[in-house]
Amino acid sequence: MTRQREKVCDRCQNSAPVLYRAQIDDTERWVFICDACYSDVSQNNPHYIYGGTWKAQKKK
Ligand SMILES: [Zn+2]
Repeated sequence: MTRQREKVCDRCQNSAPVLYRAQIDDTERWVFICDACYSDVSQNNPHYIYGGTWKAQKKK
């Protein structure tokens, strides 16, 4: 059994090694978004809240 250390972006559905946890609308729901979507949704977004970064590879 292989442990899948990969998440997909909630916005574009692409998998990425690094995702950003954020709220991007007034539903106050936490989503994971990729680098490309991050710059997209964080600009001019009054609902945008940054909640941390998720990485597939954890540093030891
Ligand atoms: Zn994305």
